[in-house]
Amino acid sequence: IQGDRQTYVIANWKMNKTLAETAEFFQEINSSNDVTVVVCPPAQLLYPAHLFIKQSGKPVHLGGQNVHWADKGAYTGETSTAMLKDVGCEYVIIGHSERRQYASEDDSLVNMKVKQSLMAGLTPIICIGETLEQKNSLQTEEVLASQLFGALNKIDSSHFIIAYEPIWAIGTGQSATAELAQQTHAYIRSVLKQMFGEKAESISILYGGSANQSNAAEYSKMPDIEGVLVGGASLKAKSFDGMIKVF
Ligand code: PGA
Repeated sequence: IQGDRQTYVIANWKMNKTLAETAEFFQEINSSNDVTVVVCPPAQLLYPAHLFIKQSGKPVHLGGQNVHWADKGAYTGETSTAMLKDVGCEYVIIGHSERRQYASEDDSLVNMKVKQSLMAGLTPIICIGETLEQKNSLQTEEVLASQLFGALNKIDSSHFIIAYEPIWAIGTGQSATAELAQQTHAYIRSVLKQMFGEKAESISILYGGSANQSNAAEYSKMPDIEGVLVGGASLKAKSFDGMIKVF
């Protein structure tokens, strides 16, 4: 890992877990001081998760899985940046491929959410990634560049995290090889350099997509992979711990 880049292991629980399972997870989990551990539970579990973390005394940080672009108002069913902060969040996932697919989020909406989050003092975890079809037609770089330029349009701050999550790797067990991920991360960093200059050197780029206990060590050796965003393998404290240990 280069310079002052922060390393992260981040859990994305998606639409999983009960209150009791959440309590159990934070009892069982270990943490490390070498890596920033962030857990992103569903919205209604954020506040109890915050209390469980506090009780445990473990250095675990909290993040939302989504947020609204407006600061408040008549938006039934939505969660604002202020609400996330109020219940203890420091991070928020934005533009996950499942939201792009099932909730029609596009780059300009992602951009609005990123702006709102930065303004509120939350660190956005911005997800980008290509489909299998795009990969097979050699469009990966083009797709990623356009997602980055879209998501980061008119943004000066580099206080965000990028999660490279190839859609063909999410929940499929077909993780990208560490070499392919490294190559893609290096490309992402070259695009960030065009946008942010030298500041791009300190932006953390995480890999996501069937990351688990067995492949995490390979990713951790790569010079442009500063951690992982983990779905399935983050649900069990034991396997999540296994990934915290190697980073
Ligand atoms: P997965 O999900 O680890 O289950 O592939 C990753 C993600 O979607 O963030």
